[in-house]
Amino acid sequence: MLVIGCFAASVEAAYPLMAGEERLGTVSTVKQGADILVSLQDMASLLGLGTAVKGDTLAVTSNRSKAQFVSGASAAWLDVELVPLAAPCVEWKGRWLLDGRSALKMFTLLLNRSGRQVQLSFGPEEPDGTAPPPVAEVAPSPVADKPSPPAKVEVTTPAPVVDVAPPATPVPVTAAAKDRPVLKGIRWGEEGGKLRAVMDCEGEEAPEVQRGSDGVRIYFSSGQWPVPGTPSPYGDVKVNAMHFGDRILVEFISSIPVHEVMTLESPKRLVIDFMRPGGVSAPRPVKPSPGKPVLPSVPPGRGPSGGRPIVVIDPGHGGKDPGAVGNGIREKDLNLAVSKRLAARLKELGIDARLTRDTDVYLTLRRRTEIANEMNAELFVSVHGNALPPGRSATGMEIYIMALPTDKDAMELARLENREIGNNGGDAAKAADQRTQMLLNILGNMQQNAKISESTGFAEYLFKSGNAGGIKMRRVAQAPFFVLRGAAMPSVLIELGFITDKNEAKLLADGVYQAKMANSLAKGIQDYLKNH
Ligand SMILES: [Zn+2]
Repeated sequence: MLVIGCFAASVEAAYPLMAGEERLGTVSTVKQGADILVSLQDMASLLGLGTAVKGDTLAVTSNRSKAQFVSGASAAWLDVELVPLAAPCVEWKGRWLLDGRSALKMFTLLLNRSGRQVQLSFGPEEPDGTAPPPVAEVAPSPVADKPSPPAKVEVTTPAPVVDVAPPATPVPVTAAAKDRPVLKGIRWGEEGGKLRAVMDCEGEEAPEVQRGSDGVRIYFSSGQWPVPGTPSPYGDVKVNAMHFGDRILVEFISSIPVHEVMTLESPKRLVIDFMRPGGVSAPRPVKPSPGKPVLPSVPPGRGPSGGRPIVVIDPGHGGKDPGAVGNGIREKDLNLAVSKRLAARLKELGIDARLTRDTDVYLTLRRRTEIANEMNAELFVSVHGNALPPGRSATGMEIYIMALPTDKDAMELARLENREIGNNGGDAAKAADQRTQMLLNILGNMQQNAKISESTGFAEYLFKSGNAGGIKMRRVAQAPFFVLRGAAMPSVLIELGFITDKNEAKLLADGVYQAKMANSLAKGIQDYLKNH
């Protein structure tokens, strides 16, 4: 939580809020250090949205959707989803303040949910002010997932792309910014289940690309505004364009997987291909193609298993850390018993399974994935038991991947699992909260992305094989688990079942059911390895 007393702020100039080219009015700002924070209440009122303050939370409502900003939190709720923010939200003298970029993002998402398609941006500062426009600095990190293919690597089946060139106001480019990526517009096309967005660009530098589980974000230094080719003509790929100061963020949010992101030369353009279910996909670029530098990869003949795939099974908790306790079960014992059965079953199937612990010992969360990385494992599976507070009950196995949390329960679970029993008698809950917050920031920066989609695929195999094996499967979900943070391979956290549920606890303690769980999970792992 932010200590309000330390918040040195001064009132700054007002900035006009724009919807497309329409000026809605001005938003007051507050300067905090180098950052300029904008008033969320001002923005809500200009957009005709209701606000309500309750404790440390500001709620903004639009029809049936609600955004909730919590003072000191660098994530905000959008209905039941947590959306990462570039910086924490700040409450100051009854005003709720947020960095301009995050505020534009949250209001755009909120309005889109209630069916209002608008392009929000801040115009230049109103006369007599001296402060720079409210630009949230975007870290200049090379986040592109893979090196751009050489110019000659054209796509083999270019989708017919509709030429869209509506008149638009060019944004003047200063001489100093000549090399920076400028967006001229977006063209769309589709063919054989593939949907393509082509961004025509100018400038020497490539735009920054961030891939996430829900789509792709691209940062340009400037460009045509409003962006030609927006909104998206397709229902399964939405595009939000945001303009603030000297940057344009184009956010593609898709319900279908991103197949490929490519930078192509002459003319310069950035291409995103989305693949609809059943679409014919080109082979995955797993092997380096000729002409491309060979990337260092996993050494062949790994470990003593001589090429057999290694799967690391991690029985959660152990030693001084019992994990959840309920109905006569200690989570650490359950995790170890099932993990041992799972490892044994995998060995029967010819898979080299290793355990991070095979006795009742304590391991740090960090050490667990280190072991998997040292072994060059193909997969990492952390095994846990679920728990709910008194008065609440649920049953079934859950498979989690590490990503932004699916809902409040997933977030709560991650906070519990991220708790580490310290040697210093420190406040484990507080440390876990900090760790969770750190992960939210990392995930918000969308740097784990290739792994998120691989892990999702793996989780789906396990879910399917659990169902087929007669296990009650609750869901595949996501949450920011620290134990999965360091894994270099597809990784999941399995919550076997709820030890706080009386009936399920009985089942979990039963050797026959444990074997059933282990066999189904082993089958899912085997199937995944066969196909990847
Ligand atoms: Zn656990």
